[in-house]
Amino acid sequence: MDDLEKIRSEINSVDERILEALADRRKLAGQIIEAKDHLGAPIRDSLREEQLLANLIARGRSQGLDAHLITRVFHEIIDDSIRSQQLHLLDYGKPDLKRVAFQGIEGAYSELAGRKYFAPYLDKTVFTGVGTFEQVVDAVEDGDADYGLLPVENTSAGSINEVYDLLSCAQLSIVGEEVMRIEHCLLGMEDVALSSIRQIYSHPRALAECMKFVSKLPNCQAIPYAEAAMAVIKVRDEKDPVLAAIASEEAGRLYGLKVLRRNIEDQPNNYTRFLVLAKKPVSVDQRIPCKTSLIMATSHEEGSLLKALTLLHRYKINLSKLESRPIPGMPFQYLFYIDFEGNTAEDRIAQALEKLRSATTSLKVLGSYPAQHRAKTSPKIEVLAGGSPEPEPEPEATKPAAEKKEKVAYKLASRDRKPDDTIITVRGVRIGGPDFVVIAGPCAVESREQIRKCARYVKECGGQLLRGGCFKPRTSPYSFQGLGFDGLEMLAEAGREYDLPIVTEVLSPSDVEPVSRFADVLQIGARNMQNFSLLSEVGRSNRPVLLKRGMMSTMEEFLNAAEYILDSGNHQVILCERGIRTFETATRNTLDLGSIPILRRLTHLPIMVDPSHAAGKRDLVVPLALAAHAVGPHGLIVEIHPDPEKALSDGPQALYFHQFADLMRRIYQ
Ligand code: PEP
Ligand code: MN
Repeated sequence: MDDLEKIRSEINSVDERILEALADRRKLAGQIIEAKDHLGAPIRDSLREEQLLANLIARGRSQGLDAHLITRVFHEIIDDSIRSQQLHLLDYGKPDLKRVAFQGIEGAYSELAGRKYFAPYLDKTVFTGVGTFEQVVDAVEDGDADYGLLPVENTSAGSINEVYDLLSCAQLSIVGEEVMRIEHCLLGMEDVALSSIRQIYSHPRALAECMKFVSKLPNCQAIPYAEAAMAVIKVRDEKDPVLAAIASEEAGRLYGLKVLRRNIEDQPNNYTRFLVLAKKPVSVDQRIPCKTSLIMATSHEEGSLLKALTLLHRYKINLSKLESRPIPGMPFQYLFYIDFEGNTAEDRIAQALEKLRSATTSLKVLGSYPAQHRAKTSPKIEVLAGGSPEPEPEPEATKPAAEKKEKVAYKLASRDRKPDDTIITVRGVRIGGPDFVVIAGPCAVESREQIRKCARYVKECGGQLLRGGCFKPRTSPYSFQGLGFDGLEMLAEAGREYDLPIVTEVLSPSDVEPVSRFADVLQIGARNMQNFSLLSEVGRSNRPVLLKRGMMSTMEEFLNAAEYILDSGNHQVILCERGIRTFETATRNTLDLGSIPILRRLTHLPIMVDPSHAAGKRDLVVPLALAAHAVGPHGLIVEIHPDPEKALSDGPQALYFHQFADLMRRIYQ
């Protein structure tokens, strides 16, 4: 016991040093912005950030620290530094004391968002909870608060209409935004088994966001309550261990409840966007990436909205949001809420707004404010010079007959239709552009531990996406068929933990919707390349699709399969060559590398290569992967396993971790 106490006290003093170091770093960030201000230097210096991160990773490694840990910790630290530099430029230093109104009581998500936004000034900020959204607006309008905080939209529940309606009448400006991940916890009096919980209280929106979790609990009733944090107080006051509340971990800590389960939201990517309002607009330094919000109405004539939007397009204004709300008392007439990238202080934006005024019946600019979406730095990985060459264009006359236009049925997939390469962005990873992307992971998710180990290794080696099959298309019905949705939860958890987007196969149209709640990319396997109802269904989803080439399919059949997805409205298709069936049996399939330059010419879609299913034997995977890299695809997908001998599917072709590390070194060095 004594030993335990001693170690704990050492840990406490290490934590103390971490805190002091963070405080010192923040002070220096304050000084640096003054120096930058003086020189007119930009806030972000991505080259310096990249080098900083790469050095820290290298130094951390020599001290036994994982690259992913360093990356995550320093992303937060760099983000905090940028946040305080931006606030400095916004002149939030004045007035000295900031009074912030939010809807709810202490511990509400709105308050947490406010604390995050005003983090560098917490010692000079007072938060006051009020009863309604309208009272937040009143508090700022009446001068009882300097800032008001209102939630406007949530990634699962959608827009909060009441707030949009308030914005149209309020005499306030938007001066900032905060996007916060909402992580719901189940909170109770004591650590009891979840099956003994009988009633769960929370705000109806929070209950709705955790519906799947709640409905799995036996004999348990969900009871709507005015507010999540108030539900926490109710459970505390009732002192009954069969009651629970859904709220933030902070609310639980504040009111003395225990966390019974974390992250119970149905959608893992559950974010709420909050607006910071003030009486006067702020002028934002042009070095800060900015957003502008406005409300407009157009005349009740055909094409008037289109005219207004075309105008914005002409000024190259990128819209990030367009929302419509009925105008009270004017049936079938609407107000349009628009957010776009840009700052009213820029000439281009000012001119566009001037023109927009004459194309609208009313226009209210709500303000320009720093955009919260800050790109994360990634340590630089150089692709081998000449590693992804653009294929040489061939003279028209030498094109084989099969490629002549009249024979080609596909249209949307064709490069003739869209000469530029399609780039698909999956949670910040760009597939189809100049970067070479590696997807890796096991053939099938087998256990929480197995997929975590793979995720960690993929991250460590610089892989960008995590693969793992949960629904496996097996030749024999007696082979392992995958863990289904349980496996998908494990895959999603590992992806979240290591910040890797996840790729998984869907086998049936009815699984597309539930799988796409978790998966970032849907894979269509080789055996399903011509399953047209499945293709149309993934075409109706909004997730990127990795379409594998059927093992007996021609280029034209492959591109027509992609066409099904594109034609159903989903333009995010990634093609994948994974080997075709030939007379040769020495390899599992014959990797058709010739298809890569051909596809690059025929289509604008991104193209990946899967050397694992082509090879069938692990020792062939690395050489085939390197050969593939040389012919110009946009990336690779490979199978790895922590213990390939024990793999439940495709073990013989799974790379050992060290082989994968070797491959990554050879590709990226
Ligand atoms: C897989 O990726 O695990 C798979 C089954 O691939 P394919 O459809 O290419 O056989
Ligand atoms: Mn496989």
